Amino acid sequence: SERTLVLIKPDGVRRALVGEVLSRIERKGLTLVALELRTATTEVAAAHYAEHEGKPFYDGLLEFITGGPLVAAVVEGPRAIAAFRQLAGGTDPVEKAATGSIRGDFGLETQFNLVHGSDSTASAEREIGLWFPSL
Ligand code: ATP
Repeated sequence: SERTLVLIKPDGVRRALVGEVLSRIERKGLTLVALELRTATTEVAAAHYAEHEGKPFYDGLLEFITGGPLVAAVVEGPRAIAAFRQLAGGTDPVEKAATGSIRGDFGLETQFNLVHGSDSTASAEREIGLWFPSL
């Protein structure tokens, strides 16, 4: 079994899609092992998105991620990392995410793509340590 870090980003909370996203995670068969509504600090957001520093969308991304409450969760199950990325769909909700995925069903813009899921075992370990240091 494997763990992944999931965020329901501030747009997902604002649009009242928390229940929808958590429901899809549970119906897939994945298990919630940590779950919290919180507003991200600039420090945590910058560390989370360190790989994007210097990109044209970076400043807007940090402003967006810290701009309101989000839901942070640790999700566990067999192949949880790939399983959640399949639930989420591709980064661009229109061009890449399939219909039936969270982004494909509910998203319109790449920045406001509703959810985050770790993309590898190394990033899952790093991100869980960052968002849930006690786990
Ligand atoms: P996430 O890391 O949030 O799951 P991802 O792995 O699908 O997304 P990344 O390429 O790591 O995508 O980009 C991180 C986040 O930065 C995206 O989810 C999106 O919110 C934002 N982003 C990425 N590319 C762009 C872009 N071209 N314009 C605006 N925002 C972008």
